[in-house]
Amino acid sequence: MENRFDVIVVGGGPGGSSAAMYLARQGRKVLLVDKARFPRDKTCGDAVGGKALRVLRELNLLEGMQAVPHERIEGVIFSSPKGTILHIPFKVNGEGREAGYVAMRQHFDNYLFQHAKKTPNVTVLEEFQATDLVWENKFVAGIKGIDLGSKQAKEFKAKLVIGADGSTSIVATKVGVNTIVPEHNCIALRVYYRNVKGNTNNIEIHFVKDLLPGYFWIFPLQDGYANVGVGMVTSDVKKKKVNLQEAMFKCIKENELFKERFEGAEILSDVKGWTLPFGSFHRKSYGNGYILLGDAASLVDPFSGEGIGNAMTSARIAAPIIEKAFKANDFSENVFREYDKNLWEAIGPELDTSYKLQRIGRITPLLNFVVDKAANNKDIQNVISGMLANEDAKKDFLTPLFYLKLLFA
Ligand SMILES: Cc1cc2nc3c(=O)[nH]c(=O)nc-3n(C[C@H](O)[C@H](O)[C@H](O)COP(=O)(O)OP(=O)(O)OC[C@H]3O[C@@H](n4cnc5c(N)ncnc54)[C@H](O)[C@@H]3O)c2cc1C
Repeated sequence: MENRFDVIVVGGGPGGSSAAMYLARQGRKVLLVDKARFPRDKTCGDAVGGKALRVLRELNLLEGMQAVPHERIEGVIFSSPKGTILHIPFKVNGEGREAGYVAMRQHFDNYLFQHAKKTPNVTVLEEFQATDLVWENKFVAGIKGIDLGSKQAKEFKAKLVIGADGSTSIVATKVGVNTIVPEHNCIALRVYYRNVKGNTNNIEIHFVKDLLPGYFWIFPLQDGYANVGVGMVTSDVKKKKVNLQEAMFKCIKENELFKERFEGAEILSDVKGWTLPFGSFHRKSYGNGYILLGDAASLVDPFSGEGIGNAMTSARIAAPIIEKAFKANDFSENVFREYDKNLWEAIGPELDTSYKLQRIGRITPLLNFVVDKAANNKDIQNVISGMLANEDAKKDFLTPLFYLKLLFA
């Protein structure tokens, strides 16, 4: 196998696989490496939202999603700390935008990865763990790593290395930016169940008293499966000294909203935990000879915990800038700065709103008030539905006027 490529992508998750496909379409010779062999599991809530669907559409992969096991999502159910339930159907806009899916990552990521693998110009190496970077004249010029099968050390070179290797990114670590900021990081657990009663085509987000300021989720999957989990900001987990796993099972067994629903439900997996680096902290995502995507660039939404869409979006936004670098034969940070700028112009305002919402969500009486008011008023449900579908409108959640209106609703 040759050892020189235009671009090396480290990590074949949604960010890396999308990047490999975009770049190969631009005629670049890509090496895509992953330490796992696909299909592989990835600890996640498995919710695939609108931004991911946009990239799937651009890559001509949206139709094929129908063959990937999934549940189609049509709305969201919230519950307040005092137990009021609120159902908000998603607004599907005039362009016929799909509402979203819940698809196990072992299926969803495999779908993307296998498509990347069959794309002309993409060479794939599975079970290859990148362990270090190759540096030449202060530029990243390749990767070093180990073939996990043969235990052989190998080195590959390229004009550009893309770090799409998730929250423990070796690329981000080696360029010195993989710092964990506990206020901008989340710990989350996930377990698969079957036969949870009362599941519908809605994702469920429950602001349970004992789990605040985090939330408990139930996301329905195909054939009676469900992804169940809990997440909390890392600094809160430390401050409250909470054992998330115990707190989650206590909620499942004792909370009035859930104990009957989980009676007779079957646990199908271990409880797995992982971290989510929030985009409320702007990590520098570029430098001489490298750029970072997705979790490696710390792009997870700090309110919803969604990171798949932003990982794929970062690949979409990086692709034309990378093409500029090849045209100019300049792989310096002067060129890649534009990627960071474009990325943050596109997703920064939303991340900012989500961070503020996360802070507001810590005020328990306010959560009770909003959910109570909305649960009894169709007009407010419509307004919230519109707000969830539209980034600008979401900012209304942050204005005093919104709460004033609720007072008189
Ligand atoms: C419990 C939990 C629930 C979540 N729920 C949701 C949700 O419902 N919806 C949502 O949108 N997001 C959710 N997220 C966030 C989402 O999982 C991530 O944001 C998303 O996976 C980021 O994609 P990525 O491509 O950047 O990285 P990843 O999906 O993490 O992919 C990184 C890839 O890099 C590979 N890799 C890592 N290190 C190396 C190395 N050294 N060498 C070679 N390969 C390497 C890994 O094997 C992996 O395949 C959740 C996260 C957690 C932890």
